[in-house]
Amino acid sequence: MSSRGPDALVTREVDLLVSKLLGELNVPYGSLGTRVIAQLTDLKKILSTDYMEVPALPPKPLLKELAHIVESDIKQHTSTYGGLADLGSPALMSHLEHLFGPRELELRAEPYRTGAGLSLRGFYCRADVGPKSKFVIFVNTAHHPGAVAATLGHELGHYIYGSLVGEKAAHTAFMEGAFANHLLEQDELFADSLVALAAYSTDSFDRIAGIGQLKPGSSDDLFKQIKSAYKLIGPRFNLDFSTLDVAKGKAQAAWRVRYLTSMAHFLKLRYALHKSAGV
Ligand SMILES: [Zn+2]
Repeated sequence: MSSRGPDALVTREVDLLVSKLLGELNVPYGSLGTRVIAQLTDLKKILSTDYMEVPALPPKPLLKELAHIVESDIKQHTSTYGGLADLGSPALMSHLEHLFGPRELELRAEPYRTGAGLSLRGFYCRADVGPKSKFVIFVNTAHHPGAVAATLGHELGHYIYGSLVGEKAAHTAFMEGAFANHLLEQDELFADSLVALAAYSTDSFDRIAGIGQLKPGSSDDLFKQIKSAYKLIGPRFNLDFSTLDVAKGKAQAAWRVRYLTSMAHFLKLRYALHKSAGV
């Protein structure tokens, strides 16, 4: 077998998996526009990456610390299923400020859909306003509430990372269609880990029979695992990919693929955290 053999087999397996997933999303594989094809590149990268091998995965002690924060600080201040929808509550915000300040947390939640607006899920910005140093989080509420919650969780992850590890950039944006880029940066994966830990407790592993690395012949298993994760997450947030209409017309299919990519990313990350740090 040539050295390219195994890669070619994985590529074929990813294609198989993607066509099954697109069938579920009511996106016909044969008639995809250019916008969907660009999104598929990101999806395929997420599906084919072995998350255990990602060098930017934060170190074990840091992940254990984060898991502890999610269980004992974040979930204690959120009322529903330790979920993400009420992450913006003033009680949680002031609790996190108390733990991870001195920067004050400021949350701005507004719909932003014109032009490239929807692609921007959110961003943070560190600023000194008079004597106060602030960490301002913007979340784009034009998205589905489940996606908004994930964005807010991600940005709070940056706030906590800045306190535990050190502040990186003064500001950064969370864009759609760029999950593969998150695999390259430790602070981005840390921020995503907060979302993954809050979304899937170890209890939920009973309902999703683990998620393995995509190998030749394993696309059926992975498909079932993604589907069972969706059955778990979808009803929580009233999220139905097949009727999702974040945007109108042709853009719709691209958005369904983006949301699916997002879900697959958090799911794979969740299992990698469990395997690598036992959380
Ligand atoms: Zn980020």
